[in-house]
Amino acid sequence: MYQFTFERPANLADAAKQAAAGSAKVLAGGQTLLASMKLRLANPETLVDLGGIAELAGVKREGNALVVGAMTRHEDVASNPDVRSAIPALAALAGGIGDRQVRAMGTIGGSVANNDPAACYPAGLLALNATVRTNQRTIAADDFFQGMFATALKDGELITAVSFPIVKRAAYMKFRQPASRFALIGVFVAQTDAGVRVAVTGGGNGVFRHRELEAALAKSFTPEAAASVRVDGSNLSSDLHASAAYRANLIGVMTQRAVAKALG
Ligand SMILES: Cc1cc2nc3c(=O)[nH]c(=O)nc-3n(C[C@H](O)[C@H](O)[C@H](O)COP(=O)(O)OP(=O)(O)OC[C@H]3O[C@@H](n4cnc5c(N)ncnc54)[C@H](O)[C@@H]3O)c2cc1C
Repeated sequence: MYQFTFERPANLADAAKQAAAGSAKVLAGGQTLLASMKLRLANPETLVDLGGIAELAGVKREGNALVVGAMTRHEDVASNPDVRSAIPALAALAGGIGDRQVRAMGTIGGSVANNDPAACYPAGLLALNATVRTNQRTIAADDFFQGMFATALKDGELITAVSFPIVKRAAYMKFRQPASRFALIGVFVAQTDAGVRVAVTGGGNGVFRHRELEAALAKSFTPEAAASVRVDGSNLSSDLHASAAYRANLIGVMTQRAVAKALG
């Protein structure tokens, strides 16, 4: 590690001021940021810890949506009774992230801001047509995720919450990378009044919607309809964990399983 200034503001206004200054970075659960700092991949002069801002943590119901505060830990989403009853797929997603320590510390805001190409939450936000709330504006998930580790956030902009519409049916299925437990491929399927959304994570260049699967499932929300789609692997990554062809096959299989799970 190297020297940096540590700030722990008690409210969002102070946090925004501190985050906007020079080479500052906000600290949420630290599960990614602290490792990056130890490896000297990040070297902020100031760390602004969001952990002291009570209004950023917790889940509340607003009309037909659940609003999850940016500092809500994965374990708290997984065990929250409102999430478990209104969007059980989201609770299951959070409960399947990493290991106990990661779930006890990692936050939805940190995960979404980081936008790791194999992370679980980005698929949940995209499939559920969620909205990211920041201290400056609201951003639809379709516009928020912009490729590997890239988002629509501007420098110093803070995520305050994520709003998830409550949908008819949804499920997330992940084929774990066995060492990290990130998604080798993860597929989140949601059936809403406006149609079906299918979001894929782990494919390579960041989370994306799979339009052919969405069209097939809009006609018939069955595993057989998902199985009838030939998934093109040409834009998927190949690495030591899996070839592009293997990932393409996994997208089909995980989608079929997610649909079966959503149907109960
Ligand atoms: C061993 C291990 C296994 C993991 N497995 C999985 C997995 O299976 N699935 C999965 O999805 N994830 C996984 N993760 C990632 C983990 O879930 C965390 O969500 C992720 O590391 C970032 O969240 P954090 O709260 O720790 O953020 P931090 O590490 O504190 O911050 C990450 C980045 O986001 C920025 N940031 C944080 N909060 C905000 C905010 N409110 N507004 C704007 N910017 C912000 C920070 O400045 C930093 O750049 C794993 C991590 C580890 C270490």
